[in-house]
Amino acid sequence: MARTVVVTGGSRGIGRAICLAFAGRDTNVFFNYASNREEAEATVRMAADRGGSATAIQADITDADAVDAFFKQILATADGIDVLVNNVGITRDGLLARMKPADWDAVIRTNLGGMFLCTRACVRSMLKKHAGRIINIGSVVGTIGNAGQANYAASKAGVVGFTKAVARELASRNITANVVAPGYIETDMTAVLNDQVKEGLMAQIPLGRLGKPEDVAAVVRFLASDDAAYITGQVIHVSGGMVMDG
Ligand code: NAP
Repeated sequence: MARTVVVTGGSRGIGRAICLAFAGRDTNVFFNYASNREEAEATVRMAADRGGSATAIQADITDADAVDAFFKQILATADGIDVLVNNVGITRDGLLARMKPADWDAVIRTNLGGMFLCTRACVRSMLKKHAGRIINIGSVVGTIGNAGQANYAASKAGVVGFTKAVARELASRNITANVVAPGYIETDMTAVLNDQVKEGLMAQIPLGRLGKPEDVAAVVRFLASDDAAYITGQVIHVSGGMVMDG
């Protein structure tokens, strides 16, 4: 029977690469997006070109009712959910002294609150199956911090604590939860950085290049595979060596 994989924020960047990494592998992919319908449709077409199936559904993950409706729509056709990839994340950068409460709230509400709502909405289905994989996208910034990103760093450190709690809570039901923490990856989120900033970043990356969305998607696919059955509560940095821990 085909596996059901749900990815949040599949219309662009890392989320799109994750959808495509699963497409065509005896898997039905469902993903949501905020507003970018054209890009969402492009992801669906790319998945079809690979012989896979992806379904796009607009749903704002900061809206509890929209999240519940999103999962309801998926569960109306799928036989439960096997894999959840919480990928949506936003930035609203600014120095702390000038950071607006609205920018703090938007980042925490989206990056952390959205993850909570989506995980809560699909966990019952995983409990019923006595199996499941939850993969949350964090960031190196949640581990090492970054000037001008206090809100984002707090949200991504929160992702780690959330994931470890969920991993402990659900382990006895054969559900794993892990974080994939990217370094600097070439997407719309980092396209706004100027060349000087990019050069500065490059100097901190032992492998000497920014990452590609596919570098992250490959690790997500591994964590969803049978080979990763004994891994839970971990944070795996995909950062070209920018962060080394363990
Ligand atoms: P991106 O290119 O900016 O794409 C963001 C995706 O999230 C889009 O599909 C967007 O939908 C969706 N989205 C945003 N807000 C949403 C909401 N409220 N409800 C539903 N969907 C929403 O981002 P990315 O660079 O691929 O980043 C993906 C993840 O990796 C994030 O968690 C980010 O923090 C993390 N990360 C990225 C980097 C990096 O260097 N790029 C590094 C470390 C961690 P629309 O297209 O409709 O707007």
